Formats: sequence, C-alpha cells, structure tokens
Amino acid sequence: MVRLNDVKKAHEKIQHSIHMTPIITSSQLNKHCEMEVFLKAEHLQKTGSFKIRGATNAVMRAVAEGARFITAASSGNHGQAVAYIAGQLGVPAVIVVPEDASRAKVEAIKGYGAEIEYCGLTSAERIPRAKQCAKERNGVYIPPYDDLAVIAGQGTIALEILEQLPNIEVIVAPIGGGGLMSGILCAVKKSKPEVRVVGVEPESANDTYLSLQDGVITAISGTSTIADGLRTSQPGNLTFPIISEHLDELVLVSEEEIKEAFQFLLERTKQLVEPSGATALAAVMAGKVGKPNEKVAVVLSGGNVDLYQISTLLKNEMFNDELSGKKGSKEV
Ligand SMILES: *Cc1c(COP(=O)(O)O)cnc(C)c1O
Repeated sequence: MVRLNDVKKAHEKIQHSIHMTPIITSSQLNKHCEMEVFLKAEHLQKTGSFKIRGATNAVMRAVAEGARFITAASSGNHGQAVAYIAGQLGVPAVIVVPEDASRAKVEAIKGYGAEIEYCGLTSAERIPRAKQCAKERNGVYIPPYDDLAVIAGQGTIALEILEQLPNIEVIVAPIGGGGLMSGILCAVKKSKPEVRVVGVEPESANDTYLSLQDGVITAISGTSTIADGLRTSQPGNLTFPIISEHLDELVLVSEEEIKEAFQFLLERTKQLVEPSGATALAAVMAGKVGKPNEKVAVVLSGGNVDLYQISTLLKNEMFNDELSGKKGSKEV
C-alpha cells in the first residue's frame, strides 16, 4: 500500500527534477460545462506527460539501492520518461520498443541518451525482454504503473492540485493501467477524503470498469482506441485494489467525445494535448461528471502526439466543414 507520506516523500525527492505544471482555465469551457473547470496542464510537464513523476521516483529509488543500469518496455510516454531521467542521473538505460514503434518516438528516446532495443509487437513480448535485459546487466526494470514507487510518484500530481486549488471539490483523471489514478487516490483520500475522485476510460478500453463491476481483475482482449496511453488490457495487481477501495466513480467516453475534447483544447485554449490526455476532459464536456457550479480539476495527462496523428484527429472536422461549405471561412 502507498501511504500519504510515501507520496509526500516522493514529492520532496522529485520536485527539483520536474515542473510544477500550471492550472489553465477557460471561461468558454466553464460556460459549456456550467461548472468551474481547472485544467492541470501535465502536457507541459518534462517529457510531455505525468509519467516523468513515477519514473523519476522509481529510478531514483533504484539508483539509491545501487542500480547502475535501467530498463523499461515502452515506446510511449513511460519509455521517454525513463530514458530522460536515467540520462539526467547519468545511468545507462535500455528501452525495449515494439518493432513497429514510430520513428519520432524512437528518436525522442535516443535523444534522451537511452539505447533502443526492438522486440516483437506486443507488451507480452517486450516486458520479459526488458526484465531479462535488466537481469543480464545487473540492472533494474521499471514498470509503467504496477510499482509502489511509480504509484507514489504519480500521486504527487494530486499534492500539487490540492495546493494550487485548496477548494477543489472533484478531481477527474484518465485510467490506463491505473498508476496515475491510484497515486491520486493515495494522496487525496488520506488527506481530503471529501474531494470526489472520478476515473475515465474509453468505452472500448473499459478493463477497469469491467473489473470494478466483477470485483476481480478482468482483462479485455485488445482495443484500438485513439487514446493509445489507455490501451492496457487489465488493471494492475497493485493499482486495482487501491482503485477498487477508493474510487468514487468511473465513467466511460466514446471515441467521438475524446476527439471533441482534443479539438476544443487545440482550437479554443491553444493547448496541444494527446487523445489520452484529453479523455478526462471529454467526460466533463459530455456532462458525465460533476454537478452545476462545482469546482472540478481535470488532469490533462500528456501532450505527445505526432504531426501525422494530429492530421488524422482533425480530418473529420475539416471534411465536415468542407461539406457544409464552411471551408476557408473565418469570422473576424
Ligand atoms: C500512461 C498514460 C495514462 C494512463 O496512466 P496509467 O497510470 O497507466 O493509468 C494516461 N494518459 C497519458 C498521457 C499517459 O501517458
């Protein structure tokens, strides 16, 4: 179990290595939602997502325990975060990525100074390889969510939210493997239990939703949601019990609702947030969270999206405009 004190200690340890990200507000958003919405801008975090919090806490723990080599299995935000902090601490790292990893992501990881190893196409192939690689070289494998130091690190985002917004009533965050959410719950429910915490999953990646319904960890067989950071097939052995005990509510959003939140953030607030990072806001904008006039903090969990993905996320919108003859028009 992760205690409030573990999260506080994690914050002391990592706060000089990460940004205290700002809170963004939009009167238009407040009007649309009929609430006071506060966006925790974690897409502006180092390496572009909150993953740097847990990765930093876990890598620092490993190094303090004598590790001289780090591995991880992810081409996404976790891989980038581990690569970055290992580089900062001067520890060599190998990041195991799928054979079809995008070049942009591989380049980002290399840019942080880590070595790349390609392995298979699924996490079931990558994770054992990363663990074995750590073993061979007396290193430590850093999991993306199911790890006490990672969970405590992710929870530091909630300490910042409670400090920046002392009167907040609701906190909304996305759930993939559940590291972010269980960290938030460990911080909030031990210090301000009256704050409601709501999790959000895509309808097609509803493994935590199903697990809560069944009361046991339940796997789904694969999903293609545009929220690629939320495509985990099941919640973790450490994260699920925390979520199951403390989460107030879990809501599901459609792909279309995620896209709408992505487009709103870009067009109205000028914030480039990746689909996973826009998922919590999607639930709020769709009226699925909160009551009128409540103060709601929404975690924008990351902003790593490449130009190709942006174009596909905007395509429908541009196509619709073309059909309705709006193309090229601009009101002044
Ligand atoms: C990893 C990630 C999530 C999900 O976090 P979990 O700890 O796996 O639940 C959400 N958003 C972004 C941007 C992520 O990178």
